[in-house]
Amino acid sequence: MTATETHHFQAEVQQVLQLVIHSMYSNKDIFLRELVSNASDACDKLRFEALQDPGLYGDEPGLKIEIHADKAARTLSVRDTGIGMSKQELIENLGTVARSGTRRFLEAIAEGRKADLSLIGQFGVGFYSAFIVADRVTVTSRKAGASEAFVWESTGDGQFTVSEGPEDAPRGTTVTLHLREGEDGYLDEWKLRSLIRTYSDHIGFPIRMRKPDSDEMETVNQASALWMRPKNELTDSDYQSFYKHVAHDFGEALAWAHHRVEGNQNFTCLLYVPARAPFDFQFSRDERKGLKLYIKRVFIMDASAQMLPAYLRFVRGVVDSDDLPLNVSREILQESRQVERIKGALTRRVLDLLDRLARDEPEKYAGFWREFGATLKEGVAEDAGNRERVLKLLRFASTRSESPGQLVSLDEYIGRMAAGQEDIYYLTADGWNAARNSPQLEALKARGVEVLLMHERIDEWISGYLHEYAGKRLRNVAKGELDLDELGESADRAAREQAAKEAEGVVARLKGILGDAVRDVRVSARLTTSPSCVVLDEHDMALHMQRLLRAAGH
Ligand code: ADP
Ligand code: MG
Repeated sequence: MTATETHHFQAEVQQVLQLVIHSMYSNKDIFLRELVSNASDACDKLRFEALQDPGLYGDEPGLKIEIHADKAARTLSVRDTGIGMSKQELIENLGTVARSGTRRFLEAIAEGRKADLSLIGQFGVGFYSAFIVADRVTVTSRKAGASEAFVWESTGDGQFTVSEGPEDAPRGTTVTLHLREGEDGYLDEWKLRSLIRTYSDHIGFPIRMRKPDSDEMETVNQASALWMRPKNELTDSDYQSFYKHVAHDFGEALAWAHHRVEGNQNFTCLLYVPARAPFDFQFSRDERKGLKLYIKRVFIMDASAQMLPAYLRFVRGVVDSDDLPLNVSREILQESRQVERIKGALTRRVLDLLDRLARDEPEKYAGFWREFGATLKEGVAEDAGNRERVLKLLRFASTRSESPGQLVSLDEYIGRMAAGQEDIYYLTADGWNAARNSPQLEALKARGVEVLLMHERIDEWISGYLHEYAGKRLRNVAKGELDLDELGESADRAAREQAAKEAEGVVARLKGILGDAVRDVRVSARLTTSPSCVVLDEHDMALHMQRLLRAAGH
């Protein structure tokens, strides 16, 4: 190839570029974090592939990142000695093939709720943030093991070119930004250093810059895997900045757990709970990501789906195993007993972390519950082995409060149960209003018995798994016969029998009218003000589940 090829950006990619170029976004620094993160990923990839083929290192065994500011040319470049890109990869990865997150990113920004440009990395389009500060970007890359290098270049206006690169181009990728008017601040070496320290200190490869007023290079970051460093050397801000790196989040982590685990499986883990749900969280039940698997410090793959249960998919972080074989594949991970054990251990660590948060920092826990409560609830159904622990972490709305907020724990409920009360009562319904106005509640309310109101979509499903907690039965008040005598029933039995007798005529008429539509018509102590209500047998489907199924055509 001698000619320069021109390619058009895929339509959604072009929209991302338009957005990046025209936004008035003030936090421009994010581009550097994204480019360094790509350089670090590229080094990770080469290290992984070189496990099979050490020849890929060629005559440059070092994995490193270099940042170079050229004041005369007004360019800033980020170079890595990582895996590099072939010509085809340059064309596809940097422009013609939209990633699954591209459209979501556009939608998120259009909705403008809590998404802004700083989240660009979460959507797999971080590279394009280069155009925040550059009006032209040049990418020169030589894939490890390849004899030719290629150059990608664009001004971000609909098309890019690809041409042959210099013969002496080193392995890896150099991204050169031709800075826009007014962005000369990014040529200032002190500013660059401070940005690297803030955002990229914990990147596991050396990030090198020229010493001020000298031609010598020096490493400006810690360049060691943060999770391997002793806890007492790490500050909260170290943990927070690493969180931002692994989670691609510009917000803070709510809490984290950092452990060295020894035993049947030896590993180190650093697990984070984000303060806010990632923007595309609702989509990610199927494409779970955010837990990076390392084996002996070598990045292997994102293994969230293999190493965490779905109901903990909000967790972000790193697990670094000493024992798994370096040549694991996704398939092996799926079937491995070792992985099962690590997954079990990680699950317990996350539940411990949440437990501690709930106990020591209830306000933070309330924040967690608002963001991820509905997800955690799935654990009641999904994780029979930890059901009791998950139940302890749940929070409910209740007849004791005037708002739909879910604030009451089962322990709190038990602590204030009415005298003589043996069981925990709950009600599921389509919404909070439906729940709190349900006639099913009347008799219990009259007796001062608190009822938990489960009014979220997922609750009906969950209620199928609510059997007991702390040795107490969990009882759906819409099901079966409520034995209210144990609750200090005041009306005397004889009076009730008398009432039943008097109602015999009405009951017989109702049975006649309702016929096969009902199984039975009974006089009940369940109600105090409503004349009647529908009750299910203990094992019937709950009412609104029946409605849902009917609506779905069953
Ligand atoms: P993400 O990093 O989330 O995949 P980006 O938009 O940052 O999304 O990058 C897109 C793709 O371009 C990467 O997945 C990678 O394949 C390729 N890429 C970007 N920068 C580099 C680099 N320095 N070395 C090798 N490949 C790169
Ligand atoms: Mg990236």
